Amino acid sequence: MKYRLLSLAVLIFTIEASAQQGDPKLTEVWQPKVPVVAPGKTNADPPADAKVLFDGRSLAMWQSGDGRDALWTLADGVMTVKPGSGNIRTREGFGDCQLHIEWRTPAVVKGEGQGRGNSGIFLMGRYEVQVLDSYNNTTYSNGQAASIYKQHVPLANASRPPGEWQAYDILFTAPRLYPDGRVKTPARITVIHNGVLVQNNVELWGSSQYIGIASYEKHGDLEPIVLQDHGDLVSFRNIWIRPL
Ligand code: MG
Repeated sequence: MKYRLLSLAVLIFTIEASAQQGDPKLTEVWQPKVPVVAPGKTNADPPADAKVLFDGRSLAMWQSGDGRDALWTLADGVMTVKPGSGNIRTREGFGDCQLHIEWRTPAVVKGEGQGRGNSGIFLMGRYEVQVLDSYNNTTYSNGQAASIYKQHVPLANASRPPGEWQAYDILFTAPRLYPDGRVKTPARITVIHNGVLVQNNVELWGSSQYIGIASYEKHGDLEPIVLQDHGDLVSFRNIWIRPL
């Protein structure tokens, strides 16, 4: 045993010594070249290769659940849930992506728990990152702002007070499904809330469920992003995405 350990130590020493003497070029990677992406003025501004989903001027990238134009209110560069008009979704589908989205719950606090500034961002129309006024507002931990609804509790409550703009930066890896809908690899998600890491590459259990345990269902490789009408006057601005 002693002899074995000794030979292992000698081997490691020999490898390290020879690496020092070798050619450093052997471990340099030059191809492919890394694409240049001009960043935005600030980290909140869309980089040059981002697709802008909402720039404050038009709801053209969005539609209602039934395929008609989105009915949410557009005013002062901001779109706001029109309660009762239903969820809205992007006309285009997305899979793996980096998503930036800013949201604001009403300055005038009304209701409590899940009934206070509730909305949500559904990746691929089914995996919900919760939007909620979670500033001094207690609810179940896996249902507060920045939770993966009823799946993952956020690592921190980084909420700003009601009426202030907040941001999510979301990194999403779509699930890989077999043609029959079985899961090859589950979806994964990272969420940064107002600059604070709140979900660290967590594995999703399946489509978000209000009642019962989430499970996967068959869906396409690209699916729309959905914003939730939960009856509260939640606003959104500056939404952009980088398909990965
Ligand atoms: Mg919600």
